[in-house]
Amino acid sequence: MMTLTTPKTFTKTWTNAADPAAKRDMWTAMKRGFFCRCPNCGEGKMFRAFLKTADHCDRCGQELNGHRADDLPAYLVIVIVGHIVVPIALWIETNYSPSVALQLAIYLPLSLIASLWLLQPVKGAVVGLQWALRMHGFGDGHEH
Ligand SMILES: [Zn+2]
Repeated sequence: MMTLTTPKTFTKTWTNAADPAAKRDMWTAMKRGFFCRCPNCGEGKMFRAFLKTADHCDRCGQELNGHRADDLPAYLVIVIVGHIVVPIALWIETNYSPSVALQLAIYLPLSLIASLWLLQPVKGAVVGLQWALRMHGFGDGHEH
């Protein structure tokens, strides 16, 4: 007699829900990463230099060098800073139209400082996301 495959065994083959004990919360991990903390415990430091992740967490031992953030943090920072600086520039130009020299003297340093300030937290959030999704070197002991 043939038995039907239950949805339970079906989901078990491909989703994280099959193993709730090992579930990694994406938003918690991204938030911890944004504050430059280990995505696993939220205590240890994620970075040993400006954009260099530590090899492992000094609190829980979670390996942190398996990420492949690559250019994504930089792209995200450009999008975020662009969406802040450009509307401000348009609003000021529309309402006050100050001289171009004055505007450049404000927007260029503002963009630079905001980008440098955001780069590390955004990279931390990306590493947290990759850890939560078990991407790249954050899987269960296989390939990098
Ligand atoms: Zn940790």
